[in-house]
Amino acid sequence: MRLLEDRIRKDGVVKGNDVLKVDKFLNHQMDVELFTEIGKEFQRLFEGEKITKILTIEASGIGIACVAAQCFGVPVLFAKKNKTKNIAGDVYTSKVESFTHGRVYDIIVSREFLRPEDRVLLIDDFLANGAALMGLIALVREAGATLIGAGICIEKAFQPGGQRIREMGVRVESLARVKSMSEENGIEFCG
Ligand code: 5GP
Repeated sequence: MRLLEDRIRKDGVVKGNDVLKVDKFLNHQMDVELFTEIGKEFQRLFEGEKITKILTIEASGIGIACVAAQCFGVPVLFAKKNKTKNIAGDVYTSKVESFTHGRVYDIIVSREFLRPEDRVLLIDDFLANGAALMGLIALVREAGATLIGAGICIEKAFQPGGQRIREMGVRVESLARVKSMSEENGIEFCG
């Protein structure tokens, strides 16, 4: 998606060799007009698919998922990062290793909101090693719901997540695919 790539070139900041900061427009300050275009693009890509729910993970996926959900006309459910030791029996749970913080945490969704009859589109801001998506996929499977695919804003294609998830047979649509990046040479996108 040209609009998103141009914005990443303009306002994205590369940290080290594998972290892209997009705090200016995507996951701290949020450009809702850009989000609307992102939502429309996801809708165009998944046109013809029956989708009943969008599932994301707190916190940075929520804003984009909400705007996308408005395009699809469905509710958003976000997996919560569980902070308590006791997990109640009325939730589905899985584990995620955080890319940005390097620790493992549990994510949960209520059984009440993820049903076997749901047809789920996953939405997230970044795809790096694929742990966040894999955690969400596990929740969908545990619920017996149907996974339609995943819509990602920025895939760092030089990291293994995209290939891993696609090899699982899951449809992944990424709006901007970063081929390589460095503080010295900036960002290069895939073809
Ligand atoms: P994964 O689980 O695929 O390794 O990483 C995806 C999650 O880590 C996303 O939900 C995102 O919040 C965070 N993340 C991964 N890479 C980056 C990055 O380069 N920049 C930012 N801001 N977040 C990232």
